[in-house]
Amino acid sequence: MSGQSGGLGDGPGADRFERLLDDLLATGDGVLTGGGVAARLVPVTAIAFDERTILKCRYSCPAWGRRWTCNDDAWGPRELIPLLQKYEKVAVLTGVDGNELFPAGLAFERAAFARGYFWALAVAVTPCYTCPECTYPEADCRHKPDLRPESAMAGIDTIQTLDSLGIERRPGGAFLRASFVFME
Ligand code: SF4
Repeated sequence: MSGQSGGLGDGPGADRFERLLDDLLATGDGVLTGGGVAARLVPVTAIAFDERTILKCRYSCPAWGRRWTCNDDAWGPRELIPLLQKYEKVAVLTGVDGNELFPAGLAFERAAFARGYFWALAVAVTPCYTCPECTYPEADCRHKPDLRPESAMAGIDTIQTLDSLGIERRPGGAFLRASFVFME
């Protein structure tokens, strides 16, 4: 599915994401108005996928088995890589403030959907940072409508992806975070 013109995003400030989408479609680059989120639109082939990301999830991440996003029953690289590789393009959103970046990724997904990219899917945007502790496995995710795969569970090698795109990962010494919105 490809985009159509004339759709509307939802929620306050949705026009910022419409403008960002316009900029990305026109030039391939953009910055979210009023914020510290930059974006680049790339073909899906620019995303470095590697099934081995699951090794880092399972054997070195303290969140493994403790969150809805990251456990034995959640879809991982084997399920998600083949599906994500079917997309045409990806908006790579970056910023040093996750509190700003992750909601922006979700809002951008919604803006893309409203524009006609009906398969739009955000990765690495679930607002786990807002939860004192996860409800897993006793109760549903507190943010179930916003639950998306984490980047490593999606098989995305974020470091390799950013490096191959020439995106500085430690701007000013800070740690750059990345979210991805797959679009078609
Ligand atoms: S958003 Fe909260 S409840 Fe949902 S998976 Fe993350 S930590 Fe768990």
